[in-house]
Amino acid sequence: MAVDWTPHRFSGGALALDTANTVVLRGDPRGFDRFADAAEIARFADAAAHHRGEELVGRPIVVADAEAMKDGVVELREAIDALFRGRAAGNRTPAGALPRLLRACAVALEGGKDAAFAGTGPAAAEPVAFEAAVAMSALSLLCDDASQRIRICANCNWLFLDRSRNGSRIWCDMAVCGNRQKARRHYGRRRAEEKKHV
Ligand SMILES: [Zn+2]
Repeated sequence: MAVDWTPHRFSGGALALDTANTVVLRGDPRGFDRFADAAEIARFADAAAHHRGEELVGRPIVVADAEAMKDGVVELREAIDALFRGRAAGNRTPAGALPRLLRACAVALEGGKDAAFAGTGPAAAEPVAFEAAVAMSALSLLCDDASQRIRICANCNWLFLDRSRNGSRIWCDMAVCGNRQKARRHYGRRRAEEKKHV
């Protein structure tokens, strides 16, 4: 069934993190990969052009051949997740994660033939290859204090960029994950109460 690429699925706050989050419940036996069907890469890219318009400075994203690019996109995605999840979890870069990410970015930029993604002016309207856009997003997260603001959602395990002033966000999306956690806690309390009365 085709994925509905809702705004919630772009809770990462940066294209690279949204891409990492296309694996749902990562590490959990119930987890699954939304890119298992290569056609979803193109559909995700279309939605990303809309939801990540600011990051992309309005440039449209191009997916030339989703099937052909799938392995490269998946390797790039996994390299992004390994590095930023490792940093978010332990405040340090896991061994080997940086060269792996840089290699995947290099492949993506060569394949995409369009590294000049940042900036404004006449180039702003030029299309950018999807894998190049994801690579540039990942590189931008390495280069400033953004990596200090990457968190792991306490509910769904997604990565997200915490732009709040005091840097204390817990959930990727308060409206979805925050409420689920609250409901679970409420349910847990009720169960505990019920048990007392048995
Ligand atoms: Zn979440």
